[in-house]
Amino acid sequence: MNPVTVITGAGRGIGAATARRLATAGHDLVLGYRSDHAAAATVLADVHATGRRAVAIAADTGDPDQVQRLFTAADDLGPLTGLVNNAGVTSPIGPFTDLTVTDLRRVVDVNLIGYVLCAQQAVRRMRDGAAIVNVSSAAATLGSPGEYIHYAAAKAATDTLTVGLAKEFAPHGIRVNAVAPGIIRTDIHAVSGVPDRPDTAAGRIPLGRAGEPDEVAAAIAWLLSPEASYTTGAVLRTAGGL
Ligand code: NAP
Repeated sequence: MNPVTVITGAGRGIGAATARRLATAGHDLVLGYRSDHAAAATVLADVHATGRRAVAIAADTGDPDQVQRLFTAADDLGPLTGLVNNAGVTSPIGPFTDLTVTDLRRVVDVNLIGYVLCAQQAVRRMRDGAAIVNVSSAAATLGSPGEYIHYAAAKAATDTLTVGLAKEFAPHGIRVNAVAPGIIRTDIHAVSGVPDRPDTAAGRIPLGRAGEPDEVAAAIAWLLSPEASYTTGAVLRTAGGL
């Protein structure tokens, strides 16, 4: 039987790269996204072109009913073996004192509550050999001063969620790990108001450049795979040395 994996935020960026890579590795996929139907349809077509089964589902991960729908779609593909908890948002980059309550709540809703809701749906379905990868951020340990401290704090919560879930579900044979990307070339930077951040930040990244989505997808695919059978509770930094 093929692995069946749910990827949230699969319409673009790291999630889309992960979808393409996992399809090539033989996974059937549920591609979650929020509202960009055209972007999700493009990724879906690429997955179908590999011969894998897949569906794209618009579901806001901050909403428990919509999350439920995402996982019901997975049930139609077979027993769930994987979750990539990836859908995340920042808010406009700026000083801490300018942060609005609306932006704060949205960041916590998607990056923390969304991850918890998806993990809960996943582990209820998963059996021995299944795995979860949470997409955290290097921000979790850097703190993101002057940029988005609240986002960094939510990502630190992702790391804690990873460790706790890994320990609670290890006796069931379910592995839970995280990746912590640094600055990766995706549209998230435009959404936070600094579209050229991957280029302007290059000078302070030890490897001298921003990362590409597929370089994170490679780490995610490895953590999901049986090759990582003794790895659980790990946060794998994919940040060019940041
Ligand atoms: P991105 O290019 O902005 O893509 C975000 C994806 O998530 C889109 O498919 C979007 O759907 C979806 N999404 C956003 N909010 C959602 C919600 N409430 N419910 C369901 N789907 C939602 O992001 P990315 O840069 O690939 O980031 C992916 C993950 O990596 C995030 O968790 C982010 O925090 C983390 N990360 C990114 C970087 C980086 O530099 N890029 C660095 C560290 C960590 P629509 O397109 O339909 O809106």
